[in-house]
Formats: sequence, C-alpha cells, structure tokens
Amino acid sequence: MRPAAVPDRMPPVSLHLRISTPMQMPAVILDALERGAAVIAAGPRAARALHLDFAEEQHARGRDAWPTPAIFDWKTWLRHLWREYSFLHPEAPLLLSALQENMLWKRMQGEDAALVVSPESMAALAQQAWQLLGQYEAHRSRNTAWEQADAEHFRLWAAAFDDECRRRSWISESHLESRLAAALDGLPLPEEIVLAGFDRMRPARQRLLTALTARGLRVRELAPESPATRQLWVTAADRRSEIHACAQWTRDLLQTAGRTPRIGIIVTSIDAVRGEMERIFRHMLMPQSEDILADPAAMPFEFSLGRPLAQTPVIRAASLLLHWAAGPLREEEISWLMLSGFVAEETALLSLARFDAELRNSPLPSPELSLERYARMLPLAKYPALAPVRTRLNELVQAAAANQLQSQERAPATWTELAQHLLRTAGWPGPRPADSVQFQALKRWEHLLDEVALLDYDGTRMRCDAFLRLLGRQAEETIFAPESRNAPVQIMGPLEASGQQFDAVWFLGADESSWPMRGRPHPLLPLAVQRQYGMPHAAPETDPELAQIITRRLLASAAQIVFSYPQRDKDGDLRPSPVIAALFAPGTMPLFAADLWPAEEVHHAAALEEIADTSGTLPWPQEKTAGGSEVLRSQAACPFQAFATKRLRAEAWKSHEWGLSAAQRGNLLHDVMRRLWSGSEPDSLRTHDDLLAAFAQNRLDAILDLHIAAAFAPLVSSASDDSWMQAYLISEQQRLHMRLEEWLQIEARRQPFTVEACEQKLHDVHVGDLRLNLRADRIDRLPDDSRLLIDYKTGEVSAAAWRGERPEEPQLPLYAVYGNVPHVSGLLFAQIRAGKTGFQGRVRNAAERLDATLKATSTMMKEPYTEAMRDGWEEALRHLAEDFLRGEASVDPRDSKVCLYCPLPGLCRIAESERDPGEDEDGEEVEDRDENA
Ligand code: SF4
Repeated sequence: MRPAAVPDRMPPVSLHLRISTPMQMPAVILDALERGAAVIAAGPRAARALHLDFAEEQHARGRDAWPTPAIFDWKTWLRHLWREYSFLHPEAPLLLSALQENMLWKRMQGEDAALVVSPESMAALAQQAWQLLGQYEAHRSRNTAWEQADAEHFRLWAAAFDDECRRRSWISESHLESRLAAALDGLPLPEEIVLAGFDRMRPARQRLLTALTARGLRVRELAPESPATRQLWVTAADRRSEIHACAQWTRDLLQTAGRTPRIGIIVTSIDAVRGEMERIFRHMLMPQSEDILADPAAMPFEFSLGRPLAQTPVIRAASLLLHWAAGPLREEEISWLMLSGFVAEETALLSLARFDAELRNSPLPSPELSLERYARMLPLAKYPALAPVRTRLNELVQAAAANQLQSQERAPATWTELAQHLLRTAGWPGPRPADSVQFQALKRWEHLLDEVALLDYDGTRMRCDAFLRLLGRQAEETIFAPESRNAPVQIMGPLEASGQQFDAVWFLGADESSWPMRGRPHPLLPLAVQRQYGMPHAAPETDPELAQIITRRLLASAAQIVFSYPQRDKDGDLRPSPVIAALFAPGTMPLFAADLWPAEEVHHAAALEEIADTSGTLPWPQEKTAGGSEVLRSQAACPFQAFATKRLRAEAWKSHEWGLSAAQRGNLLHDVMRRLWSGSEPDSLRTHDDLLAAFAQNRLDAILDLHIAAAFAPLVSSASDDSWMQAYLISEQQRLHMRLEEWLQIEARRQPFTVEACEQKLHDVHVGDLRLNLRADRIDRLPDDSRLLIDYKTGEVSAAAWRGERPEEPQLPLYAVYGNVPHVSGLLFAQIRAGKTGFQGRVRNAAERLDATLKATSTMMKEPYTEAMRDGWEEALRHLAEDFLRGEASVDPRDSKVCLYCPLPGLCRIAESERDPGEDEDGEEVEDRDENA
C-alpha cells in the first residue's frame, strides 16, 4: 500500500556501488597500535573485526608474521587488569564468575525464594539490578529504604550480598571499574588507549577513564568519521518484501563491487526475522545450496548473533543422555537422541529408525521410557546392528546405578567429572568427526563444565536433579556464536555493529515501533532511582537519545547506507521511525522497494539453469485400489498431500501422550457402536423399538457397560501390569459411557428406524476410473424404505464441510453418490462430543424421517438433501478422482488451516515458498486450531 500523498520523493539514485578502493583499517587505529597503544572495542565482535582488519593490513604489507596487536574488548581488558592487580596484591578479592555470582544471588534471597515462582530467574534479575547500580554508581541510593515492595526485598538481598562479598573477600565483576579506578598504582599500563565504538559512557567507566588519564595515560576515543556519502530511504509493502529488497541489493553489490565488499545488514528485531532472513538470503545469494544433494558450502553471509549452547545438537545430545541416565525420557527426545548420530554408529541408524517407528506404532506405547527399559527392548535378533548400542546403553545404566545418581549429594566439581564419565561411557559425541562448529561447541561445553565446577568455592553440594537443572539453565543462557568466518555479509543487531566499518550498510526494520528500541525500566529498582542516575529506559527521552547516537555512528560506518521499513506487519500499519525520517529533508518520502527491485526480478534474480522436466507422472494403475475416502479428502485438501501419502507412502511421525490418542478414542467409540447395533451379539439392539424397550426396562446402562468392556478388553489386558493405566482405562470407560448414554437419548427421540448395517463394506465402488474401498459407519433403513447414511464423529463437524469443489469431508457424499446404497434420503454426522452431541446433516423432509420436533426454521428443514446437491457432489468427486489418477501433485493447500494439521510441511517445503503455512492468503496469521478426532 502506497502512502496517499507523495509530496517530495527522493531523487532517482543509482543503486550500483562500485567499490574499488580496498577496505582499510582506520589509520588512527593502525598508527596507535604501532605506537604501542592498546585498542579497546566496545564488544567482542568489534574487537574480532579489528583483529581481522589488522591481519589483512599486515598481509597487504607483505608480512607473514607479526606480533599479536593489543586489541581487546572492554570486559576482557578489565579482567586482564584485575589479574595484573591480583598478581601484585595477593590479598585482592576473588573475582566471581557470572555463574558464581548468580548462585550467590539465589542464596541471598533466603526465605523470599519460597515466595517466587523461579528463584533462578529472580537471581538473574537481582544480578542485573546490581550491575546497573555498579555501572551508574548508584549504590548510595540503597542507604535509605525503597518504598516499592520488590525493590525493598532486593535492597535487603543486596545488603546481604555486599556483606557476604566483604566477609569472604569476593568481588562482583560489575564492581571492577570502580575498584580498578582506585587501584591503578603499580599496574603495568600502556601509555595510550584508543576506544572504539562506545555508544554510552556510563559513570563507572568514565571514572576509570578519568583515573587512567590522571595517571598520565592518553585516552583517545575514536570519533565517527564523516557520514555516509549516500543515504537512501526505502519502504516495502511488508517485512518479507523488505527482506527481499535487502537481499537483492546485497546480491547486486556482491556481483558489481570491484572486490569482495564488506556489507553490514543491521536488523532491529533480529531474533524475530532470523529464520525468514536466512531462507530469503540463501535463496537469493546462494540458490545452489537449496539442492539437498549439493555439497555444503560456506554462505556469503553470517549472523553475528549466536544461539543458546543448549540448542546446539551435540550439546542437546549430551544433556539428554545425562537426563536419561538419571530418569525416564520422553519418546520424542529418545527418538531425536538415538537418531542424532551422537550415540550410535552410522551403521546402526537405519535399524534404530525402524525400531523407533515400531515403538511408535505399538498399541499402548508409553510416552516416557527409562534407559534400562529402552535398552532391554532393543530387538537384537531382528536388528543385529544394534548390539554395540545396547552394550553402551547398558554400561551407562550400570554406571548410573554404581554411582547412585539419585541418592547422593555431591559438590559441583564432582558432578561435572561424573557427567563427563557418563557421557564417555555412552559413547558421546559419537564416532562422526566433529566439524568446526561442533568442535567449537564442544570447547564451549567444556568451559561451561569448568564454570560449574568452580561453584565448589563456597562448599555447595547438590543432588543430581539440581545439578542437571543448573547445567541445563547455564547451557540455555550461554549464547554460542561460532567464530566469524569473516563472510562478506555480516547480519547483526544495532548494538553489535558498534566499532565496525563497512563498505555499505542496510538498516532493516526502521519503523516507529522498532527504532528506537523500546525497553522497560528494571523491575527491582525504584523508577525514581533509575531516573535520577540516568539508567536505560528509565525516562521517555533515554531510548530516542541512544537511538540517535547509534544511528549517527552507523552513518559514519560506511559510504552507503540504506534505511528501510515495512508499511505493514501482522498488527497493522507501520510508520517510519522519526529518528530516521529526521535524517532526510522535511517532506521527503521514502522510495518504494518494489520500484527499485521489481518482484519478478526478485524471484528470478538468481542465475538458475532451466531444465525441462520430461519425466511426466505415472498414472495410477486402474486395477489398483487407492484406499478409502481419505484419498479424495486429501486430494481436496492439497494435491501434494494426496500424492505424498498415497503414492510416496509418506507417513506422519506418530507421537504419543499419556493415555489414549484422539484416534484411539474414536476407534473405541466406533467399536462400541458396532457391537451395540449389531443385532447379533448378546444384548445388542437393531431397531428404534429395541432402544425404547431397553430404556423402559432400565437395561441400557448394563448393555452399554457390556459393550464398552468388550471394546476395551484388549487394551485392559495389554496394560495388566500397569496400575496407573488400569485406573486410567476405567475412567475412560466411564467417560465413554456418559457420552453414549447422552447420545442414545437423542436416538430415542428419532422417528422409527432399523439399523441395516454397521461398519458395512461398500462393494464395487468406482469414482470414474478410481477404485476405492469404502466402509460406512452405519446405514439406517426407514419405514419408507429409504436410507440414512450416518458417520460418527467425536470432533466438531458441520454439513458445510461437504460444500464446493474441494469439500473438507467428502466421505458421506462419496457413500451417497458412489456407494451403491439404494434410496438414500439423507446424510448425517452423529456428533458425539461433550456439550455438542447431536445430528448435523442434510435429510429430505427431516421432520418426517429424523425428528418430528424439528421446526420449519431449522437448518435441517431449510436445507434438505436434494438431487441438485447430489449432482454437485458427483461432479466435484469425479474431478478430484481424475486429478488423483492423473498424478496432480501441486503444493496447493485449500486454505492455511489444512497445513496446520498436515504432517508434511518438511516434505513439500511450503515454508520456503512465498506463502507461509501460518498465514492465509491475505497474509493474516491463522490462530485457531480445533481438535477434530
Ligand atoms: S503442509 Fe500444506 S502444502 Fe504441504 S502438503 Fe501439507 S497441506 Fe499441502
């Protein structure tokens, strides 16, 4: 959607940027390093980028080796200074690691810990509040009581924390700046430091810098160089179009620049768009990598933001193995672990996958399995390749038992040693050689274990579950970013870009709600204190001020910068960020991304080879039955779904929860109804009169109990050794009894009927040339010799599901038109569902044939079963059958809800197409999800 008024559009621009001069390290940094100065960057990424720039500079000068330059990030430099201080002063306090400090905060909550949902999260909040007080030199504000209850609790914990640190001679990292400012005497310091990329000078940092200056050290701050010579302001219809435009600009730059450029993509909400960006950038910049057979290759782009270490596959496997050694694991976790390649050899994976599928198909599978039981269940006779896996799992069981995992309390260091022993016993991380990312993740894991082991410092002891919780939380909170490959395109958040130089920058998401980034004041500090000391997010002006500083710094970081924003997102219309709008002359309007990078060019931009597909599709053999009505149901829902499930035999991966699945409940109900209306089994019924008599004689309860017990008998006997399951099955039987009693009362109010068939196979069903096997739930004969076709449903249904060329529920129309059932006078869903039990459907004169009490205004009376309706179904079903026979397999879901219930998105890869399965055609998110059985 374009803005209505276009007062003054930006002048036309050339989008091609010729980059011929090499990217150089700023001379001021280079000179300073050569003079022996230390360069301190605001963050580790900027420090790493400077190291790389320095190395390139040395190569350019023809050098093969050079001394490591004194480039640090601020935190590393502070720790380095503290280490020096500790060498000089052996009585110096022990610097707490972040984890040690966190554990101490947890302890300081004392009895208050019982009052909060998560003492761990509260400890993290307290740690942040303490850090803010240190950075903004606001500890004096703790001398008087704070009136907010939470803040006052924190003030008391803080006093206890302070006492404990003083008593034990510990120091928090957030106090380093102020402590070092007073302890510089004797420290070996450089004569000069150059600061790069600092957006904020907090008071404690400023104090240290002032103290350094007072010691004669020259402190220089790298001033932003001149602003970008070309600034472009762009808008796109939505977020996806914005990313597309950015990707195309990036690709053009990579193709046209005279050398490999360094491009910065700055994203305001990088977490929210990372998946989509990765997909679009891969598609636009390296389409050849989308071929699953292609060799893995380094992408020309990389995200600087890491992911939690716990989500790295090799670490997730370690964590699951340790949990499994201590107790049962959920079935999906077991499947993932055993097929991950971090436990089993390559040669055992196929057997493990088969065994996994068998487990999932067993009638009453347990959603959790202990390690011992799983190892015992591995069928070695059938799958001999599993022998080594079983041996290792058994050894793990024995090691866990020998070390009394569940009953012993141990010190953290002892637990970390034991954890490593258990993992080695299980064969983790498997025989596959580690690639670079895995290798780095394993190193980070070892470091994490070392950090946990350091918790021994105060004599802490813990049980296994506490240790595993602690380890898991730390792995979740540890952000793991593999070392930069120095890819030409760096994608990062605005704060991470500080101190870096680029050839060109695109700033993505410059809309009013995203830039300035909004934050909240800290919940454990009084707002008045936060405002008094100028802490972030405390006053309305602080966020815009910081955004302006960062924007200015970004403007000085590259020769060309593009700012863009989407005009809409799922919450509505968006306006441009005022911080960015202020960079352009008043009245200037942004350019449209669609004009600069037309859509067709975007989609066909990559140089793809065109190959004609001459293979065609094999028609379905006419002599072969395609299955039941679900073939046409699937074809109507999405042709690819029918093709994949019927022709490729793709199956959903079954997963189980405690108790019966919806499908099992539906099958049990069908079975009970079949027995009840069979007319041949003892105490079964056949007619409406039989039902009325059973009610009159008070026999219905006993009849229902009998048939329900018979239907449940196989399940009850398979769970004979599980008392929990036995009790659960009894409650399920009672629940079913209640539902069916309610249903039979509705049946009793019907017009007379005879049940002619239950679960009846319909013979010789052909829809055109398509042969099907159909089975009707129930066919009732009425006194006028017409038939009602009935389908039992435990989910919510409606006769509207029979409408259109792609009906949602083609089953009953199929029986009516092609099932060879004579004199059909109506189709009915028997909806048996708590609070919604009743008939839904179409019947010719329903008052006469179904229920005399129906009013003329009821839907059932107003929309009867007609020949025209039948003709419409006949045509729609025939077309669907023809499509299936022909092999029509387009990825074309009827609507987005179809994809929500479909197990195949990984196969059809709809997420990579233009339309996301989570959106409807208008791009709105689909939220509702019912639970049709
Ligand atoms: S996920 Fe959607 S598009 Fe893919 S096969 Fe299933 S229904 Fe079709």
